[in-house]
Amino acid sequence: MKYYSTRDKAVRLESAEAVKMGLSRDGGLLTPEAIPQMDEAFLTGLVSARYQERAAKVMGLYLTDYTYEELLTFAENAYGPEKFDTEAVAPVRKVDNTTHCLELWHGPTSAFKDMALQMLPQLLSAALRKTGEDKTACILVATSGDTGKAAMEGFADVPQTKIMVFYPKDGVSAVQEAQMVTQEGENVGVCAVVGNFDDAQAGVKRIFSDVEMRETLADRGYFLSSANSINWGRILPQVVYYISAYCDLLRDGQIKMGDKVNFCVPTGNFGDILAAYYAKRMGLSVGRLICASNKNDVLTDFLRKGIYDRNRPFHTTMSPSMDILVSSNLERLLFDLSGENDAEVRGYMEALAKEGKYEVSNAIKARLNEEYWGGCCDEAGTAVTIADYYKNRGYLIDTHTAVAVNVMEQYRAATGDETVTVFVSTASPYKFCNHVMDAIGEKPAGDGVELLEQLNAISGVTIPRRLAALKGKQRRFDLTVEKQQMDAVVLDFLK
Ligand SMILES: *Cc1c(COP(=O)(O)O)cnc(C)c1O
Repeated sequence: MKYYSTRDKAVRLESAEAVKMGLSRDGGLLTPEAIPQMDEAFLTGLVSARYQERAAKVMGLYLTDYTYEELLTFAENAYGPEKFDTEAVAPVRKVDNTTHCLELWHGPTSAFKDMALQMLPQLLSAALRKTGEDKTACILVATSGDTGKAAMEGFADVPQTKIMVFYPKDGVSAVQEAQMVTQEGENVGVCAVVGNFDDAQAGVKRIFSDVEMRETLADRGYFLSSANSINWGRILPQVVYYISAYCDLLRDGQIKMGDKVNFCVPTGNFGDILAAYYAKRMGLSVGRLICASNKNDVLTDFLRKGIYDRNRPFHTTMSPSMDILVSSNLERLLFDLSGENDAEVRGYMEALAKEGKYEVSNAIKARLNEEYWGGCCDEAGTAVTIADYYKNRGYLIDTHTAVAVNVMEQYRAATGDETVTVFVSTASPYKFCNHVMDAIGEKPAGDGVELLEQLNAISGVTIPRRLAALKGKQRRFDLTVEKQQMDAVVLDFLK
């Protein structure tokens, strides 16, 4: 299968090249030229399979220059018992007869980014071999907390790769910072930047587009690459768990083959919910996709009115991984909904770059209405939902998951839809101890990793073993720089 750019269908690449490049040179996103179809027999075959086998079979439909054996080996490495604390990998937990939760935080960093970032380094490493690349890939990451740690964990000691992560000095939670500065691996680097996430991200983008820098690094045997969710190698592993969740519901007798299931997804860059859309387009029986936003409600407005307008204040919230004004992966959805009209997509993206705003065609508006429902939830709503789930259902959820639950309930109240609904849980509550404790009416005593034990004593919920191990772990990185110095940090890292 070939991959083409959402802004120019004349660009055609093999899957390994698409994974290696990450982004098309015209700025478009690399997207499969056709969406493979699953029939009932294919799904039935997955029901009795382990998660790793499900992953290899689904990914094999798209990655035609990787063999099934290769993909299965990658999946065994990515989702094995050394990495994940449950054999199910992405378990579905029943809340009531029509409500289930897909838990995606059982991996090494306790956030759903692991589902893709345990897989991407292996896909990339194989892509370097397949394309005869002799340079080392240097992954540059600007992170608001979860991506940086998950990317380092995935790339640590992967041959022919190095990874450098920049995070905003005061923009990540104490647990997130502790996770990053204790990261092991010979090929990793971590640096705090004075400023906010946008400063760190702007710095990374500047380095990417600096021609002189590229040449210097090429002379030293490096090329720059990205682990962002614009890379197809990050979206595809996420398609797997929606199909897997459906299979689990079938296996456990919660639904019958062909029954519709809604998914409700806490959304930021639109990668996770886009993967659910691809699963639906492959033939999975999905009803509505419910897109949950926090106080940064640009997607809610877009899904309701068909106008994307980033000209609005940016809010810092207790669900920081969803604090975002430009959801990059929306571009892949527009490409599909426009009937793969690259000129139309290019027009929208040019308007976004110029005016910060675009309005989609009536045809796309109609399709958005059929497929999606958008809603948002403020800080008070997030806290109330955490408390409600904890007190009334004995289920401790994190701040991002709470946004999804809150919006799912709004959806049900607004539409009366009683279809079985799976909401997606994207982080362990232990990553956001202070907010979770505030929400359930407990006073956080202390800071950072000390709170893990306090929350455990209150709730009785097991602390993920890798978070528990943070206490007493050696700090390996202690570098803080001004944003103008980020180039120098990279040059020093790649000496
Ligand atoms: C990244 C992230 C999200 C948002 O996912 P997108 O694919 O960017 O929409 C939600 N919750 C958590 C915990 C995350 O880390």
